[in-house]
Amino acid sequence: MTHIPPPRTHDEPAPDDHLSPLLTATAARNAWIEVDLEALAANVGSVRSALEPGVELIAVVKANAYGAGAPAVAPALEAAGIERFAVVWVSEAMALRRAGVTRPVLVLGHAFAGDAAVAVSNDITLTVDSLDLGRALSAEAVAQGRTARVHLHVDSGLHREGIAPAAAIDLARQLRDLPGIVVEGLSTHMANADEPDDSFTDAQRAVFLDVARELNWIPYRHTANSATALRRSEMRFDGVRVGLALLGVLPPNTPGPPLRPVVALKAHIARVTNVAPGEGVSYGLTWRADRPSRVALVPVGYADGWPRHLGNAGEVLIGGQRCPMVGRVCMDQFLVDITNIPGVSEGDEAVLLGAQGDARITADEVAERAGTIAWDILASLQARLPRIAHRAGNVERIIEG
Ligand SMILES: *Cc1c(COP(=O)(O)O)cnc(C)c1O
Repeated sequence: MTHIPPPRTHDEPAPDDHLSPLLTATAARNAWIEVDLEALAANVGSVRSALEPGVELIAVVKANAYGAGAPAVAPALEAAGIERFAVVWVSEAMALRRAGVTRPVLVLGHAFAGDAAVAVSNDITLTVDSLDLGRALSAEAVAQGRTARVHLHVDSGLHREGIAPAAAIDLARQLRDLPGIVVEGLSTHMANADEPDDSFTDAQRAVFLDVARELNWIPYRHTANSATALRRSEMRFDGVRVGLALLGVLPPNTPGPPLRPVVALKAHIARVTNVAPGEGVSYGLTWRADRPSRVALVPVGYADGWPRHLGNAGEVLIGGQRCPMVGRVCMDQFLVDITNIPGVSEGDEAVLLGAQGDARITADEVAERAGTIAWDILASLQARLPRIAHRAGNVERIIEG
């Protein structure tokens, strides 16, 4: 049905510096991710409208912006007015700086003393969990004639990262006395943010407030992810660390403003074949035709992050209709039963995540079918899939796989 232009050669530059229509940019690709920057900007506005004025939005863009492609997403978020960014690895913070992000970037995860030099020279804010790291940052700040702003993370009950309350108070005071260091932020993270019963948040709030009272000279406090930010106004403090909601997906048990999905995963059908009654498809022949059938080969597999658990359990959109995935998901491809949809041919578009016509497959639906959570579905999308960032169908940026 779709006309497919000849494939691009490797020498031909991708049209990443000028606008081109989405259709042209995706035509000769097996599979790709569309990143809707207009929806992203709308979500920034919607999430902000749910917060009190003055509460900063800290965009969490760890794990390649949950699969959306941090180099495309972060500059668009900055343009949409995001005050700060957060990632987990120092290398992720460096990638944001390379992508041109100028706002503060906070590393939430563990950093090493050996990270101090790049952190200071790139104005990357580290979460400090030891005096050793604080000393290394102080020495670098003095040597480079700069200031190292740092945050401290209190373990208020999640028992994952951070420092126990009493030790956090001690460390904060020691850091305050180091030259070149400014202790800017105090944070914690909720264990039951999106559980049906999030009352443990109250206990964590009490622990956090005790520490914050002792350390009232630390100006910036942040405790909330998407779910906590939207469910708990009393947990917003100076900024909220929002990841999933900016991509247009609400966490479970979380009421929120209307959001628009940012990420779509699409592919061109590679092959259409007939399967006779009794014949099986894909490894293990776990699905067998019970009638004369037609199956389409979709060139996306578990190596791309498409869950293997969706074998014989997932659906994709073809011709605006839902088609069941049949047989096992392979490393690079899987099959769908298109017997009920006449006229499907090689090159037609299959939508794995996103909309086609009036039908839509959401990250929540895929997660449910795969026995996992929407964060996992998005963050698992692998680098081989090109990210095609667009506004209203005009391509702004292509990140090649
Ligand atoms: C990932 C993460 C967030 C963002 O969580 P969302 O649910 O995606 O909003 C916030 N804070 C910390 C510490 C995180 O690790």
